[in-house]
Amino acid sequence: MTRILLLGGTTEASRMATALAGAGIPAIFSYAGRTAAPVAQPLPMRIGGFGGAAGLAAFLRAEGITGVIDATHPFAAQISRNAIDACHDADIPLVALERPAWLGDWQRVPDIASAALALPKAPSRVFLAIGRQNLGAFAGLPHAYLLRLVDPPKDLPLRADHVVARGPFTVDGDRALLQDWRTQIVVAKNSGGAGAEAKIIAAGQLGLRVIMIDRPVLPPRRVVRTVEEALHAIPLGV
Ligand code: NAP
Repeated sequence: MTRILLLGGTTEASRMATALAGAGIPAIFSYAGRTAAPVAQPLPMRIGGFGGAAGLAAFLRAEGITGVIDATHPFAAQISRNAIDACHDADIPLVALERPAWLGDWQRVPDIASAALALPKAPSRVFLAIGRQNLGAFAGLPHAYLLRLVDPPKDLPLRADHVVARGPFTVDGDRALLQDWRTQIVVAKNSGGAGAEAKIIAAGQLGLRVIMIDRPVLPPRRVVRTVEEALHAIPLGV
């Protein structure tokens, strides 16, 4: 009997959930629980960590999971590593549904700490488009920051202006945001995908400097680009 675990938290995961539900394939949707009001899904949902790779492997066995689709964000490296290890341990197929990275001639840096080091010494106005985790690396620098967050912020490790909004975003809207805030530099993760790309296109149109953080490198795993490919990649059995 097929039973899929879909690791979510992205637009792709929501599309995957719709496809699995539409095809009548039994599946569980898993959220980390980072946002106050996660998007509802047409599948049974569970929320919260599994307790590392060992906890995930135990969950796979206990729930009779026959295949895992990792549709987490390209920067959610820990859960993706755990999924690789747990599926290996439980001898269950794993497929990662991952959007391609953006290509461009911006300044590339390997990680968050390098992005902070790449900022100028002089005070600058920086749109820090990296979510709410890892902001500490930018504390203590002389810049003015703008954040865009899904939930209203509390206990931020740095002083910053913020907007609360959930993507997808538009180029026109992001150009207006960047202009209104008199942005000079955009720091972004190379997330890929259309909705998050608007700020990068808008920054290009305005001639702003973009510092792009490369994706974390993961161990080898099977990667597909579309929901349809993921459906074919996971053995569905009966
Ligand atoms: P992470 O660093 O890779 O994961 C940290 C821990 O959170 C994992 O070890 C796991 O806890 C738990 N976790 C993560 N994703 C989970 C899921 N889908 N279901 C159950 N537990 C999960 O992840 P992150 O960067 O904090 O991202 C958390 C979530 O936000 C992910 O679902 C991701 O898709 C989404 N997201 C992340 C970003 C980003 O830039 N990082 C952007 C947009 C959305 P245990 O070890 O206890 O199992």
